[in-house]
Amino acid sequence: MSERVIPLIDQRLVSVAARIPSVTTAPTGLLGDALGRPLRDLRISVTDRCNFRCSYCMPKDIFDKDYPYLPHSSLLSFEEITRVARQFVAHGVQKIRLTGGEPLLRKHLEILIEQLAALRTTEGRPLDITLTTNGSLLARKAAALKAAGLQRVTVSLDGLDDTIFRAMNDVDFPVADVLEGIAAAQAAGLGPIKVNMVVKRGTNDHEILPMARHFKGTGIVLRFIEYMDVGATNGWRMDEVLPSAEVVQRIHSELPLVQLDAAAPGETAERWGYADGSGEIGVISSVTQAFCSDCNRARLSTEGQLYLCLFASQGHDLRHLIRGSATDEQLAGAIAAIWQGRSDRYSELRASLPPDAGTGARRVEMSYIGG
Ligand code: SAM
Ligand code: SF4
Ligand code: SF4
Repeated sequence: MSERVIPLIDQRLVSVAARIPSVTTAPTGLLGDALGRPLRDLRISVTDRCNFRCSYCMPKDIFDKDYPYLPHSSLLSFEEITRVARQFVAHGVQKIRLTGGEPLLRKHLEILIEQLAALRTTEGRPLDITLTTNGSLLARKAAALKAAGLQRVTVSLDGLDDTIFRAMNDVDFPVADVLEGIAAAQAAGLGPIKVNMVVKRGTNDHEILPMARHFKGTGIVLRFIEYMDVGATNGWRMDEVLPSAEVVQRIHSELPLVQLDAAAPGETAERWGYADGSGEIGVISSVTQAFCSDCNRARLSTEGQLYLCLFASQGHDLRHLIRGSATDEQLAGAIAAIWQGRSDRYSELRASLPPDAGTGARRVEMSYIGG
């Protein structure tokens, strides 16, 4: 058995203070980064805690009872999140995804959703508000989330085989309860629902076809995600990555597929439709096919650090501005300056290295900044 190396540096502490530029101009909704990429999608992590211990994300031996989760006072309040989100929207954000940890563990999340649902894009339209969840609390909360203004949910589910799924979430959580959550979300009108399956070769890849068969024809879009080298604790190995091309091949051999056009620029998933017209699947090839060139996503951590890439090793601390005396205009100016300096393209750089080489730097955990 290989020994797990516990990171010596807590990557959450590695940040630079966001600075107010000496000259701030009013947001135009057309902010571009150093590579000309617009800012369209904001992912907000509302908690760093989770009731699952998926080995690829929060391995039990590290995220144990002694793990230093953030104290409540460190978390941005709903008012603070909404205030900062408003500045992002002024810069062109059209879609907000709530994530975590497990976002449904954050108490009264509906109140935050109500506040975010009141925001309008620069063209005066409501935002596209969605949430990624492990589904464990969805059956209980779906109706209230919908009533608060949530439009859609993405539910993570790594297989239908109960033994495999219980082992992968590592807290013995049954598949049936997640399926019940998905059904409740569908009944509440939180669609089109997406289901995310992280594929680990040798662990759950034999679940690809049963999952495809199960969700085909239901209106639910199943998406297969390549197991990624996020964070520093999951012991990632290239040989456990099953390339998306192989996922498509395996499904196509039994359930013929045709490739579909991308839904929107910057969309992470490649879309494939069933040839018989009974729905579609998606594949997210973050390891084998870099899609950095049109990456328009920013990530806000639970404590108000702005991350410019899922694989970033440092955040930009906005909380000290939010909690300090910065005006909205200054906060917007600070966000603009950070985004304008963005040149992150981790997946593209990794693609140019030999397998398993990594790019050296320690990275922040997925459970801290969400997916
Ligand atoms: N707890 C929620 C959930 O599981 O849906 C939201 C947060 S979770 C960090 C967001 C997404 O990241 C999930 O779909 C999860 O499967 C995915 N994820 C976590 N670690 C990953 C990894 N190493 N590679 C690929 N996807 C990963
Ligand atoms: Fe929790 Fe989601 Fe990470 Fe699994 S993937 S441990 S459910 S945050
Ligand atoms: Fe975006 Fe970073 Fe992922 Fe590239 S590696 S697509 S820049 S989040």
